Amino acid sequence: MVKVPFYDMSRSYEEIGEALEAKAIEVLRSNCYIGGAQVEEFEQHFADYVNAHYCCGVSSGLSALHLALIAVGVGPGDEVIVPSNTFIATWLAVSHCGATPVPVEPDIKYHTMSAEYVERSITRNTKAIIPVHLYGQSADLAPIIELARKHNLSIIEDAAQAHGARYNGDRIGSHSDIVAWSYYPGKNLGAAGDAGGITTNQPEIAQKINLLRNYGSILKYQNDIIGFNARLDPIQAALLSIKLEKLDSWNYSRQEIANAYSNGITNSCVVTPSTPSWSTPVWHQYVIRSPYRDKLKHWLHTCGVETLVHYPIPPHKQKAYESFNSLHLPVSELLADEILSLPVSPHLSPDQVKTVVDAINDFDPTT
Ligand SMILES: *Cc1c(COP(=O)(O)O)cnc(C)c1O
Repeated sequence: MVKVPFYDMSRSYEEIGEALEAKAIEVLRSNCYIGGAQVEEFEQHFADYVNAHYCCGVSSGLSALHLALIAVGVGPGDEVIVPSNTFIATWLAVSHCGATPVPVEPDIKYHTMSAEYVERSITRNTKAIIPVHLYGQSADLAPIIELARKHNLSIIEDAAQAHGARYNGDRIGSHSDIVAWSYYPGKNLGAAGDAGGITTNQPEIAQKINLLRNYGSILKYQNDIIGFNARLDPIQAALLSIKLEKLDSWNYSRQEIANAYSNGITNSCVVTPSTPSWSTPVWHQYVIRSPYRDKLKHWLHTCGVETLVHYPIPPHKQKAYESFNSLHLPVSELLADEILSLPVSPHLSPDQVKTVVDAINDFDPTT
């Protein structure tokens, strides 16, 4: 039986491991372990890649979101509009500012934020909106940006899953005020540990992030604001520069696998993902829906195909958000029950892709 792991990182390591090892040794021998040329080089490479004026490396995607919110002035008493169906970090960043996350339901077809629902949730306390480019598919930004202008709100895009994704032909990275990135190992562009970044076209925002990530200091022992230690490690930055060179070809492989799934899956109990006209996705996840999700997941497991659910419990139903638990958000709750992420890592073989398609088409919920 052909086994299909959900994400086999050893395959990408086989492709570029030697270059990564040489680079890691170079950084170790440089004796420069905080900041420095490797961080600056990666920041320049990534800013160029996404067409932004500035990139500031930080320690994780959560830090990127948190510092971005502080940089636009979000604080206690403010409300920030967030998707009801996102990874918990989007909400946590808001809570860490002492602000309140205000969940809006997604467009059920595309899983992304819809401006229509956002508008209904704006109050006089609203300070910012965080659209999430979930699964590597861009949210429809233009109407959200228009709303933000009209109501004088900031936008922080959560692009943790969208390295290389395009909105109306342009790469995500500088459409709004700030874009927050994660380079967690499993993302499309991932380090060998925790790492993150923000991109922006606004020099004041880049400056603020540079302060915030480094104890509120640019000149050593001179502290201008109450900052954090949330810097990007040079060793991770150096590895990311190498992996960035692979991003487009690995995204292309994901696209090919996604096409094979969308063309090959014909089982009527399964809905394959829809791509709206504005979006060129990078398939961080390939997410199908089925009313028989749990049974299908078990069936696929018996066929050697590992799958995951992103995410099984929406943030408003988490213990950490107890005061939200009584909220009923039917779209995100339905999605949490029906979604299933298929393996879509760039090194899957044609045999493995075929195994997934055949196993899904052979699934019969009545047996
Ligand atoms: C991964 C992720 C984050 C958090 O990134 P970390 O680097 O793990 O802190 C935030 N938002 C979304 C949508 C993510 O997928």
